[in-house]
Amino acid sequence: MKIIIQSLLVFTVCIIPLIIGECQHDSNEEIKRFQEEFSQQYFNSILPNHQNQNNLRKLQNSQDLQNIRVTLDFSYLDTLQLGITDKQKAYIQKISKIAAQFITKLIKVKPLTGNNIYGSNLRCIDIAVPINDQKIGVENSDLNLYIIYFNSGSSALANAASCFMNPVYQRPTFGRVSFNIGYLTNTNPNSFKFQLDLQVLLHEIIHVLGFSSDSMQYWIDPDTQKPYKLSGISKINTYQTIRGFKTLILTSKNVTDIARKHYNCSQIIGMQIENQGGSGSAGSHWERTVIMNELMTAQQVSIGATLSQFTIALLKDTGFWGDVNINIAGQILWGKNQGCDFYNQACQSSNKANFQEFVSSSSVEGCSLTNDGYGVGINDGFSDNCYYIQPYSNMLCTDLSNQNNSQTDLKLESYSTNSRCIMSTLTKPGMLGSFSSKSRCHESLCSSDFSTITITIKQLNMTIECNQPGQSKVINYNNKKIGDLECPKNFNYFCSNNQQCVNNCSSNGLCINKICHCAEGFTGVDCSISCNYFYENGSCVNNCSNGNFANPDKTCRSSCPDGYFGDTKTNQCQQCDFSCKQCNGPPSSSQSLQKNCTQCTLYKYLYSGNCLDQCPTGYYGDILSQECKKCGSGCLNCENSQKCIQCDSTIGLVLNQGICGSQNCDQFNNCNQCSAISKTCIDCKSGFYLINQNCVTPDQCGDGYYANKNNKLCEKCGDGCVKCSNLDLCNECAVGYRLTDGICTNCIFPCKKCDQINKSQCQMCESGYFLYQNSICVNKCPKNTYLDPVSQICYPCQKGCVDCQNQLKCNQCDEISGYYLFDNQQCVLKGDCFSPCLVCQDPKNPKICSKCQDSFSLQDNLCVQQCKSGYYSQKINGINTCLKCSDSCQQCSYQADKCSTCSNEKVLYNDKCLTQCPQDYIKSNNNICKKAYDDTINNSSKNLTICGFEKVYIIGFIIIIITTFI
Ligand SMILES: [Zn+2]
Repeated sequence: MKIIIQSLLVFTVCIIPLIIGECQHDSNEEIKRFQEEFSQQYFNSILPNHQNQNNLRKLQNSQDLQNIRVTLDFSYLDTLQLGITDKQKAYIQKISKIAAQFITKLIKVKPLTGNNIYGSNLRCIDIAVPINDQKIGVENSDLNLYIIYFNSGSSALANAASCFMNPVYQRPTFGRVSFNIGYLTNTNPNSFKFQLDLQVLLHEIIHVLGFSSDSMQYWIDPDTQKPYKLSGISKINTYQTIRGFKTLILTSKNVTDIARKHYNCSQIIGMQIENQGGSGSAGSHWERTVIMNELMTAQQVSIGATLSQFTIALLKDTGFWGDVNINIAGQILWGKNQGCDFYNQACQSSNKANFQEFVSSSSVEGCSLTNDGYGVGINDGFSDNCYYIQPYSNMLCTDLSNQNNSQTDLKLESYSTNSRCIMSTLTKPGMLGSFSSKSRCHESLCSSDFSTITITIKQLNMTIECNQPGQSKVINYNNKKIGDLECPKNFNYFCSNNQQCVNNCSSNGLCINKICHCAEGFTGVDCSISCNYFYENGSCVNNCSNGNFANPDKTCRSSCPDGYFGDTKTNQCQQCDFSCKQCNGPPSSSQSLQKNCTQCTLYKYLYSGNCLDQCPTGYYGDILSQECKKCGSGCLNCENSQKCIQCDSTIGLVLNQGICGSQNCDQFNNCNQCSAISKTCIDCKSGFYLINQNCVTPDQCGDGYYANKNNKLCEKCGDGCVKCSNLDLCNECAVGYRLTDGICTNCIFPCKKCDQINKSQCQMCESGYFLYQNSICVNKCPKNTYLDPVSQICYPCQKGCVDCQNQLKCNQCDEISGYYLFDNQQCVLKGDCFSPCLVCQDPKNPKICSKCQDSFSLQDNLCVQQCKSGYYSQKINGINTCLKCSDSCQQCSYQADKCSTCSNEKVLYNDKCLTQCPQDYIKSNNNICKKAYDDTINNSSKNLTICGFEKVYIIGFIIIIITTFI
């Protein structure tokens, strides 16, 4: 009876689909068409008219750089009549202003002299540019963004692109951002979702700044100081087949440098660009598989994203910008130091068990790599068929709104910015075993040295302390067990992973790398205080008092955050040179290269006030202190303190295995070289071997040692070995050991290697035996497992399989538990569907779909990211379905009769396909009707604009000459 009650109490995991927005940056036909047209005009007429002005452009790298001035034009929100509400307008303005303010801190440029003029006769993608901006220009602007909107059922919040390159400065100066009000239904989201919206917007604006396959032709080649153009793009674009996908590799300098350092693989030739997802995603984003939660991957992930050094490096490589603020970058742990194998093979590697980033299938449940939440393995369509754990949106520990979930209190959980995912089965007293899930969101706080993690269970008013990584704890309450908890395996990783800001910046600011960048009018560490000036001791003040400095969040404190120094003249924190993590003042002016850095950002080394990528000759980069340190005495050039590369031969020193030695070693017997510094022998004469700083013959190495001819050292034999020929070939074992295949073991037969305490706990088996369950040696792999011929290990079959050939190929499934064999190889639970299908028609076919996940549409029982040509996506009874465009259109968008392209014999006019253009319109190259008189006006305005530019150029030139002479 008791058993029945318990099983009735088992709750099923409640699955809420992930909120996912796929970037449609350049899948938009209009943007594509525009980019082609603009590129032709730019390289054929606009740029040639401004050649010989490269000197001006080069000044972008000079000393007098200023923070970029981003101007926003919201007027289209009022003039377009597509049903926007006042709340949506206010929301768009709020997040746009916060994002623009952040870009100002991110980028420095040589400011435009004069107004920012739109110098092209083309529309800015899909909008008419105000005449004023074409003739007079926008004041105080280095980048003007037109903010517009559209209304579609797609799951993308916004799309954006640049629409004008200034030919003098050769960088984008105009762009447009278009919001989807069809997606923007919640204009009062909680602070977590507000952050996600802001991240999408920032992502889109970074496309405008040059991260886009369409923009790379304008990037400046540092060798020639000229744009690569389409003809030269192969200099930074190479294709490789990676994990079975043709993949674009971006080989520009800074990006390649960061990739090598991040993955710790010197053979990397560049960074992988997204290889899946059609033109909107592929080519313009980082490859999801190798850098999952970077801000510039193709799809939003539920945990939120990080703006990392990769994107900063790319923005530097565009050559558009004077400097890009590396201090703002947050850390990415995905793939960090995982080596070339991770970068190339990812989840297909034979070492994949070492890569915690991936899980084997969709049936694995657990915490996400960054411990932000829990879920099951997914293959998101961008991860090259690799599965990784992405938290369910209602099991995202950092999203406060999940606190009200009906199971929260029963599972003793907490959802807050301090909550992290922990492997735990804690359950309300008396309900143990009621939940199948083994992961929980618990409030956890790390001690400052990361040695202790304190987990708070508010419901029971108790705390649990983790002091030992990986420790399993049985948790009792009033002497009764309430569950098991496993302490995180790597405290350093767990504690440094939390990128959350306090209260997610209270929906009043952008959270980047744990710091809130507050909107105008808000201050405080979480942007919760309303104040137009600076906040000090509970009141809003005009200036901070002496000894305090206005921080970037406009709060007065005695110190400044990384990247800023306290300016005692203004009592404000001012930005350091972008290369310094900390500094004691601004970079000194003009000729001197002194940047006043006192500490450097990741991968850079401090050398007399500057942060360098590489230390000068005679110095090495000390990884721990991030400083350039002098090589040892007598060493002219070194790799690190232990390894010299070039010794000072003028004083008789020679290089020997990284040490500078002298050949004057008469005081040592049979010594060839001795250290000039430590006065010991470092290399023996031929036929002698070094041990304890003496040179001896091979038989003098002694018991348990052998003479290694390769390095002329006496080296230790393996464990338990008395006499050996080399490390792997023992000839005689010590008492208590038995000799097997050249090694000595004292493990219980047939273990070859075993736990040092429990000798029957096997780690490796003698030949003819195979390791099973990581602990026993068997001569035949049991049922439910298969033999891996390389490792000689019995691995479990996939879930639901009782007899298999390998992990991928099952012969027989566990029918009693409801599994059936699909595709002759895979076990699938009856009724389960394959992602991205959400509901299947046939319980025994996971592919025939009747409802898809949010960002997919249903076409012929399949889930597709984009409907076939001639179809458009619309929600019918809550299901995104591909519907046929009307016969007159070749392609249409969001309505059957809203054509976006027409078949050959027809022309496009106002969303309609006609046999010929109406009166006053003419057919353009791409079969679109354009107003005929446009051309005449355009021709005259073309000349006007070019004149405008020449004026700007001449004025700019005079000013520069004057300042140089002064
Ligand atoms: Zn994008």
